[in-house]
Amino acid sequence: MSGKGIVHLVGAGPGDPGLMTARALELIARADAILYDRLIPPGALDGARADCDLRYVGKEPGNAAMAQANIDALLVELGRSGLEVVRLKGGDPFVFGRGGEEAEALAAGGVAFEVVPGVTAGIAAPAYAGIPVTHRDAASAVAFVTGHEDPEKGSKDSASMQNPSRAESALDWDALARFPGTLVFYMGLKNLPLIAERLIDAGRDAREPVAVVRRGTHPDQETVTAPLEQIAQRVAAAGLRAPTITVVGAVAGLRDTLAWVERRPLHGRRIAVTRARAQTSGLAARLRALGAEVAETPAIRIEPRAVEGELARAVAEIAGYALVVLTSPNGAQLLFDALLASGLDARALAGVTVAAIGPGTARELERHGVRADVIPPRSIAESLAEELEGVEVEGRRVLIARASEARRVLPDALAARGAEVDVVALYDTVAEPLSDAQREALAAADAVTFTSSSTVRFLLEALGSDRTALDGARAVSIGPVTSATAREFGLEVATEATRHDIDGLVDALIEDAAR
Ligand code: SAH
Repeated sequence: MSGKGIVHLVGAGPGDPGLMTARALELIARADAILYDRLIPPGALDGARADCDLRYVGKEPGNAAMAQANIDALLVELGRSGLEVVRLKGGDPFVFGRGGEEAEALAAGGVAFEVVPGVTAGIAAPAYAGIPVTHRDAASAVAFVTGHEDPEKGSKDSASMQNPSRAESALDWDALARFPGTLVFYMGLKNLPLIAERLIDAGRDAREPVAVVRRGTHPDQETVTAPLEQIAQRVAAAGLRAPTITVVGAVAGLRDTLAWVERRPLHGRRIAVTRARAQTSGLAARLRALGAEVAETPAIRIEPRAVEGELARAVAEIAGYALVVLTSPNGAQLLFDALLASGLDARALAGVTVAAIGPGTARELERHGVRADVIPPRSIAESLAEELEGVEVEGRRVLIARASEARRVLPDALAARGAEVDVVALYDTVAEPLSDAQREALAAADAVTFTSSSTVRFLLEALGSDRTALDGARAVSIGPVTSATAREFGLEVATEATRHDIDGLVDALIEDAAR
């Protein structure tokens, strides 16, 4: 609790988690309580504190979890009790979000509040459909309109003109038809036939382009376009369901040339990522940026070893090794943790030749101020063994610091050349159980990625005897060792990366999607 109460009215954006603002994420991470709506992005609350009071107050069409008056009262009550409260809403809080009413209630109740604008669906959904809502040649104005109200209610001289508080509930169809620019309708799906009819009756061009965008900015976004006179029929035929944004205006025609979401190489692909949760985010973000829907189904978890016994000894004597080999980004990170824990730092490696398997491992070393001397062209142990042939190891000490379970290729190759090899475990790779939701996400996936033998082994272990969740997914492997493990366990490998690192895996997924 932070002393003086405040309520933040926060926009969470239209659905793509990447469109949440930095301010929104910061406040979610800090809040004592969060009251949230239905249309917030998936994972929007992931950053909330473990002890945060999370309350769902959304409104399903026709089935409100909590009436608006009660939400207003609850916000005032929580604010008064001294809490820092986030009121999280889809899109922007002040665009058809009833944020205005909530702010009024807070003002009347004497509770401090702050507004954090969000990316509103009326701009974002068209943008993701390749439609700019304004354009120098096609629209110099844009109107945001609610399509929720009964269109029978509105007319030029209705209450909306005299009574601004009713402005949302009675539309002036003549004015809308004459409006010199783009019309963007929120909440308008059910009324689409009437909206189109009213606009045409009031003089809007029946051939004007219209686009209806469903679940804009989500991976399963859908768009239907047609002239105004046909749009209702086409949307019905396509079976679109809410939530949708309807864009009426010449700009809707620009989609033909500007559609970009559908052109991304992994558009429409559902890809499961099985590597450790701590490592999924980078890969997942890249796949999402390429258009994929990513299911995070970590099969493994990294458990660092305590710095004691042979690990402590190896670290204390690290300057005495002629060669130190790191085989994964985790290993590189944990070696530095161990160095620091032992009162050492990068200088301990000053006279040591350092080898790294994989660009990610090399990057992790660089983050700690050490540039690897040897990086093999292919990110597998065999390639490193070859590459190290130029390094003098006979009679010298070599440290291979890596996972507890790993292949013997490298230690054997170096020992055969007369090196005195210490293989030390920095961490254990352990199984991560699969939740029912993850099992379902896996079953829906088009492709499942394996980035190491342990991801194969532990995923199959987590699935147990029922492997049907993998039936519809193409297995994509990072390299020959992982593929061999997959085959050993009876999995058919659809594609293997040519480069055995994350870039190579992403390329393999793109090629696989193009087939
Ligand atoms: N405050 C929100 C709007 C809330 S009203 C905002 O600024 O975006 C709810 C309506 O928003 C829905 O009926 C639908 O018309 C629209 N909407 C919200 N998210 C959407 C999405 N991802 N795609 C299409 N329309 C969306």
